Amino acid sequence: MTIIATCPFCDEDVDLDDDVELSEVVVCSSCEHEVEVVSLDPLTLVEFEEEEK
Ligand SMILES: [Zn+2]
Repeated sequence: MTIIATCPFCDEDVDLDDDVELSEVVVCSSCEHEVEVVSLDPLTLVEFEEEEK
């Protein structure tokens, strides 16, 4: 089963597994940006910022 979130870049739907976890990073299938799950209720995605090492 999947749940639907909205990509912050292209506003397209992003399919997530229903066991998605906070801070999980997924790739938008429409624009291929990496987005991070910052809230589960409501499901919210933001731009993923990679930590500098
Ligand atoms: Zn997108």
